[in-house]
Amino acid sequence: MEIRISKTTQPKVKPPEAELGFGKYFTDHLFACDYVEGRGWGDARIEPYAPMQLDPAAGVLHYGQAMFEGSKAFRGVDGRVRLFRPEAHARRMIAGAPRLCMPTPPEALMVEAVRALVKVELDWVPRSEGTSLYLRPTLVATEGFLGVRPSREYRYFVIASPAGNYFGGKGLKSVRIWVETQDVRAPRGGLGSTKAGANYAASLKSAQDAKKRGFDQVLWLDGKDHEYVEEVGTMNVCFLLGSTLVTPPLSDSILAGVTRDSVLTLARDQGLTVEERPISLKELRGAQQSGELKEIFGTGTAAVISPVGELAFAGESLVINGGKPGPVAEQLYTAVCDIQRGLKPDPYGWMQLVD
Ligand SMILES: *Cc1c(COP(=O)(O)O)cnc(C)c1O
Repeated sequence: MEIRISKTTQPKVKPPEAELGFGKYFTDHLFACDYVEGRGWGDARIEPYAPMQLDPAAGVLHYGQAMFEGSKAFRGVDGRVRLFRPEAHARRMIAGAPRLCMPTPPEALMVEAVRALVKVELDWVPRSEGTSLYLRPTLVATEGFLGVRPSREYRYFVIASPAGNYFGGKGLKSVRIWVETQDVRAPRGGLGSTKAGANYAASLKSAQDAKKRGFDQVLWLDGKDHEYVEEVGTMNVCFLLGSTLVTPPLSDSILAGVTRDSVLTLARDQGLTVEERPISLKELRGAQQSGELKEIFGTGTAAVISPVGELAFAGESLVINGGKPGPVAEQLYTAVCDIQRGLKPDPYGWMQLVD
């Protein structure tokens, strides 16, 4: 499908790279295409970034048929711009959409959409270490109809936002985590393995309560026994027990992170033993007491690796590695970032040149 490009006549002033933060600024253009049942996907276009018109009865506004993705483009040390694993992100949306009865554009169009948008916005890809252009593909139901059934019309669009260095450029920083023992992010049989906006709606209150208690994020437990670890904040979670990296197995309540897969691949290739298996709070407490629990960290596109320095429960707190980022977290973080910045060879074919 051909992508029609109409460029803005009023480009924005770009913010200084030191002030980028996350999700505050948006580039000059967006990609969009529309789906109508019976006709399929069409009208692929890159157009000036602007508010969009939506029927007030659109399905996304009432019944929450909405999904998104999050990936990044990086400017390498050679000045060239590369996407990190764009097909993996497209495939994840394609895999998740049927659970919400949503159609997606074909993988090739999704990847081309991201690549074409980044190509138009090359000047928006920041240059300093640790920065990137964050890409947010989004799929929403657009048909104006209040009956409860899957929408017959959808829009897929991609917006882009320059992102600053997650850790402020001073190496990794540990977070303090509150263990959520009441509320659940995603039950078994629910939407947890899809990047549905609804999962985020379900998670906001716990995160807000944790912040009120002075913590950065929550550790999510399984929805049945409230005992097995699932994710940390909006990241997958890994535990270093002795010299074994343990992470919960993928299920329908855990999001299959592209970073999780990348980090596990690198860990295995660096000689670490990796176990994907259920891990309980009981096991974690025991491992902490015996000294086996060396490190905890989250994995996700935004931070790559986010070390956990403390796990707190009501009346109890486990301090991990003295509250500091551990050597395995540091080593895996560097390994991923070096590939993303084109500093080291890319034996897995993760990077895709844009320009
Ligand atoms: C997006 C997301 C992740 C991380 O996925 P990446 O592909 O690594 O960015 C993990 N958990 C949840 C709940 C997410 O929404």
